[in-house]
Amino acid sequence: MADYSPMMKQYFEVKEKYPNTILFFRLGDFYEMFFNDAKTVSRELELTLTGRDCGQAERAPMCGVPFHSAETYIARLVAKGYKVAICEQMEDPALAKGIVKRNVIRVITPGTVMESSMLDESKNNYIASLYYFGENVGICFADISTGELDATTLMAKSREALSPLVINELSRFSPREILINPEFTDFSEVAKFISEKLSASLECMDFDVYAPQAAEEAVRKQFHSDVLERSAVLEHREIVMALGALLDYLSRTQITGLERMEEINVYSEAKAMRLDLNTRRNLELLETMRSKERRGSLLWVLDKTKTAMGKRLIRTWLEQPLLSPAKITLRQNAVEELFNNRPLLDGITESLTGIFDLERIMTRVVYGSVNGKDLRALWSALTRLPQLKTLVAPCEATMLRDIEKRIDALEDVCTLIDKAIVEEPPHTIREGGIIREGFDPELDSVKNDMTNGKQLIAELEAREREATGIPKLRVGFNRVFGYYLEVSNAFKDKTPEHYIRKQTLANGERYITQELKELENRILGAHDKSIAMESKLFEEVRHTVADQLTRIQETAKAIAQLDVLASFATVSIRNDYTRPTITMNGRLYLKDSRHPVVEALLGGSTPFVPNDLDMDPNNNRVSIITGPNMAGKSTYMRQVAVIVIMAQIGCFVPAAAAEIGIVDGIYTRVGASDDLAAGQSTFMVEMAEVADILKNATSDSLLILDEIGRGTSTFDGMSIARAVIEYVHDKKLCGAKTLFATHYHELTELEDLLPGVRNFSIAVKKRGDEITFLRRIVRGGADDSFGIEVAKLAGVPDKVVRRAKQVLQSLESGEAITVPKNVAPPKREEPIQLTMLTKDGEVLRRLKNLDVNTLTPIESMNILFELANML
Ligand code: ADP
Repeated sequence: MADYSPMMKQYFEVKEKYPNTILFFRLGDFYEMFFNDAKTVSRELELTLTGRDCGQAERAPMCGVPFHSAETYIARLVAKGYKVAICEQMEDPALAKGIVKRNVIRVITPGTVMESSMLDESKNNYIASLYYFGENVGICFADISTGELDATTLMAKSREALSPLVINELSRFSPREILINPEFTDFSEVAKFISEKLSASLECMDFDVYAPQAAEEAVRKQFHSDVLERSAVLEHREIVMALGALLDYLSRTQITGLERMEEINVYSEAKAMRLDLNTRRNLELLETMRSKERRGSLLWVLDKTKTAMGKRLIRTWLEQPLLSPAKITLRQNAVEELFNNRPLLDGITESLTGIFDLERIMTRVVYGSVNGKDLRALWSALTRLPQLKTLVAPCEATMLRDIEKRIDALEDVCTLIDKAIVEEPPHTIREGGIIREGFDPELDSVKNDMTNGKQLIAELEAREREATGIPKLRVGFNRVFGYYLEVSNAFKDKTPEHYIRKQTLANGERYITQELKELENRILGAHDKSIAMESKLFEEVRHTVADQLTRIQETAKAIAQLDVLASFATVSIRNDYTRPTITMNGRLYLKDSRHPVVEALLGGSTPFVPNDLDMDPNNNRVSIITGPNMAGKSTYMRQVAVIVIMAQIGCFVPAAAAEIGIVDGIYTRVGASDDLAAGQSTFMVEMAEVADILKNATSDSLLILDEIGRGTSTFDGMSIARAVIEYVHDKKLCGAKTLFATHYHELTELEDLLPGVRNFSIAVKKRGDEITFLRRIVRGGADDSFGIEVAKLAGVPDKVVRRAKQVLQSLESGEAITVPKNVAPPKREEPIQLTMLTKDGEVLRRLKNLDVNTLTPIESMNILFELANML
């Protein structure tokens, strides 16, 4: 250490305090990284790795980025899951004695990003904190960029039952970063989920962070007593601990403070529909399954919001369908009022258009990174508020009335910004020109000096020209010499005595005079002074606006809700949706229902064929749906699930009439899963998912099971499928409403054996070899799978189709399948290859490949046992 240069020693001192981060070390106009950090960054961002003398024989590996464009590099590192510590120069290097003082001013981690360039405006960016204690978990989710903070306690009967609850909450919020207490190590299932499905970074916090008293103190310090009382957060021990750890972590990474987080929403997990991650993906709520695109998802159809706040909220609503009929009705009433009043809806939509992201602007206001343009954007958003209030004022729906009350017109803030900030402010405060004339008389007078000075210079120029008789004499300015008088070579003999030469150019000379320098001092002095005054005034305005955080935040929330409700109304009008009746009786009834997304994708070119559904907890709780591939089975089943979700978020639904008995959770098992890459077999994945569903579903749940048992042999598959149906049908075991699509026609006999089972099929018209899909769901089982006809439709060559028919005929009539005449039997070649295929050959091969020297006795026993079994 002693040999390192003083700057390197400083580097090590800082780095030691931030071991798990990439340290961006400010050196002049660059941020430099050293040693392993440099190697990582150069690899991840494809930057050149160089070296720097550090006082050692070998140069330190180094890699750097210019400070003014650092944000994009930081964004890319953070997106890859790294944490970046920003170490700044704390004093002007020109004035510093010895080594420049440096400090880490912030650590940017995936869950604590605030920069809008690193965030998606339509999504919240959450950091979570989990505190495990016995069979309970305190869990909180914070979005630093908007100030949102949600917390809950999950409780289970056993530790084993805890993991699905935690996984469910995590998949709802999809945090980018998760803090955990050491107890978490016992829950490998959750850890696996976090690393494989969420790809969030995990941070295990030290034991001492969880000292109860310290945690409570931190929570008390952070929130106003009103908030503590309203949320009753202190009564939830596990939440306090989780929150304490989160606050500790945030204050260590943000360093500047946590003023933004003022409110806390303590919620009960039991208030939202359970949707596991598979179901969210299968139903394509936020993005499509294959291409991960928004187009083709339910969000794509429903989101016609106009503001970033609305965009984030509609996602949240979609991720958390409600369970309370009263709450759903509140939303429905508001949507209906807008639905029935087009001029009102159009007016609201228009006023919402162009309202900037109040929540994220406020984050910048509070943390001091706001610029003049942001404040002007805030102003322009605020100017629309009175109009919105007036529009909503006559509304009758409770929720709209409440929104109207919560929108604060914020006239004081609006007037202040308008008076203080020029209409087109520059990007930075450094250049000045940000404060409006008339806002501060003192600033105006200083600025006046500046303009006057410039006027005086112009006058001086004219005067000197006349006095010297040099027609082209002019006053110029540069940063090195300040103001000067320039005379071309042709006239240089005419310059008077008192001109002091400063610079000789190829075609002329530059001079200064006493008078010019005096003027210059006045102008430049006024310039520096005015910039200093402008920054101070700007800071004052910023503080005044920051003090109004609570009002602005509440207004932003109200606007977000109005935006989402207006979006629901707009979509419902455009797509001809109906208000569903919400009940608690468990019945699901749909008349002429459509799949909102498939319908939108068809875009009217092909009409979507509507279908009915009528299920209830007694007579028809399990529907077995048969019919050929491509007939529309999975579309129909998803349609039901999607409509239930739409109803429970308060939107209208694509049906002529609908009655929705509240569903507590939707569980799906459809198609191939993306776990294949993780090295599990399709069948294992399928069974693991079935196991989860059967463990979690209740009699109030809705199950969508598509071709369970397909991944194994016919008899195995059919037996599993049948056992699953019997299980879900049994009210004592599960009793969930279930849509079950299958190719096992044998299962249709269950209708006669189990009272709650009904058979349905999707109608197909067959004429000769040709089939037409009618897309209509009808009572009764299908009599045929039409697999070969569908293969033909899909373009399988005629020859294969004909041959398949022959094979089918032989199978159906129980004959042996003969080899077609034109196919020659395979030639028997080398006998040696044949023996390789026999069991003896395989045993020999295995024996030859054994490395006897490295086998343990147990392994040898096992292998011997296997080999003996093979013979
Ligand atoms: P299955 O699950 O029976 O194999 P799908 O549900 O995947 O069939 O449907 C196949 C295609 O048929 C879908 O991609 C969709 O475009 C179309 N389709 C399904 N149902 C309807 C319908 N009710 N109206 C119009 N087209 C439909």
